[in-house]
Amino acid sequence: MTLPPVPDLRTVQLDLVEAQIKTLLVRFEGSAISDKEFWEMQFDLGLAWVGFPLGFGGLGVSPSLQEHIGNRLREAEAPSNFLRNPIGIGMGAPTVLVHASADLAKRLLKPIFTCDEIWCQLFSEPGAGSDVASVRTSAVRDGDEWIINGQKVWTTLAHVSKWGMLLTRTDITVSKHAGMTYFILDMESPGVEIRPLRQMTGDAEFNEVYFTDVRIPDSHRLGNVGDGWATALTTLMNERVSLGGTTAERESGPIGDAVRIWKELNSRLPHDRDRLAQLWIEAEVSRLTNIRASQMRMAGTPGPEGSVGKLISAELNKKIYEFCINLLGPQAMTYASYEMKRPGSIKIEREDGSFDVSKAFLRSRANSIEGGTSEIMKNILGERVLGLPREPRSDHNIAFSQLAKS
Ligand SMILES: Cc1cc2nc3c(=O)[nH]c(=O)nc-3n(C[C@H](O)[C@H](O)[C@H](O)COP(=O)(O)OP(=O)(O)OC[C@H]3O[C@@H](n4cnc5c(N)ncnc54)[C@H](O)[C@@H]3O)c2cc1C
Repeated sequence: MTLPPVPDLRTVQLDLVEAQIKTLLVRFEGSAISDKEFWEMQFDLGLAWVGFPLGFGGLGVSPSLQEHIGNRLREAEAPSNFLRNPIGIGMGAPTVLVHASADLAKRLLKPIFTCDEIWCQLFSEPGAGSDVASVRTSAVRDGDEWIINGQKVWTTLAHVSKWGMLLTRTDITVSKHAGMTYFILDMESPGVEIRPLRQMTGDAEFNEVYFTDVRIPDSHRLGNVGDGWATALTTLMNERVSLGGTTAERESGPIGDAVRIWKELNSRLPHDRDRLAQLWIEAEVSRLTNIRASQMRMAGTPGPEGSVGKLISAELNKKIYEFCINLLGPQAMTYASYEMKRPGSIKIEREDGSFDVSKAFLRSRANSIEGGTSEIMKNILGERVLGLPREPRSDHNIAFSQLAKS
């Protein structure tokens, strides 16, 4: 008797995911449901973060299958939540899954996915950006609570956030990487003050955040006291993937904008066509590299290779929108409105949904700064992927209190 061939694990997992997608889409297509109801169902069916365990928004299968879900839901024109809560979905959720207790994770994950609770990242300070391990915001223990004092800066979406991922200094007598502790902060706590910072787009997407005797319960600590750097690395590795490692459809995003503008202008100049073709090829190589990286990615925190996608997409976005502005010529010099806005999500579109290329051009300049600058990405790739010698460090094994203030 010959036994039927055993299907490989990926096929079994794909069949399971596909069955869940069909259930979701039958409910979506059969009735008029709100975006929130859709995301609730997506979470309950384990299609929010497919690599997460059952009951936590996942099915415990390979995270690489998330791309398949994304493609299927896009085809069905299902609502997408990512730009509404990018920091919560891309960085908060994976950090919570790895470092929070099961009870706390259960409490936090679903409202992240349904966008009922928006998240922000409270890492950067005036003296701690690229070198985020230099944070000075202090956390001092007081019984079952911690008292927070200090300042953060460039905090995207803090003004609409319920929760913040907060990196603090808890010990100045040890070296800088050893003396940090990580919390999640309820942004509605007394003593939290949020002030807008205006960008060159005119919007104030990010903020300064001040803490004056803010209290956080110890149960909202993620990781051990003094282990904040390890928890922060989980957030940062996921941030790079979330900013540069997504696998969109061919000719979508910035390169899609460029092709559309080129067609609309009916440009016949060979130089424009050659430049567009070159950018298109680079965008496609970047997209295919991201697909390969996501298929190789197993469960767990992404590695330093996430920096490749972040570096390439940041530099490419700037080149693409520069090309668009050159194509459009003087008409790209007009700017619709310079009135300060406080956007509730990260979107380039105007309020009426139309696309604003001048704004996209200005906003793209931030791509090579946010989530770590391109220089820092190159350092990470050089040291951790290519194995080149490390940068000299003058702060190694020196107590934080002995370091010069930057
Ligand atoms: C749009 C936007 C959104 C942001 N959102 C958030 C947020 O939500 N939360 C948050 O915590 N932060 C956020 N940031 C802050 C961001 O992470 C920092 O701006 C970034 O890490 C750089 O830090 P810095 O601005 O202090 O510059 P610095 O670190 O002072 O760097 C200045 C320059 O020196 C270079 N440089 C520094 N160190 C090195 C080195 N070792 N080798 C080579 N070159 C080096 C840098 O590349 C840069 O060109 C955001 C920034 C932007 C632009």
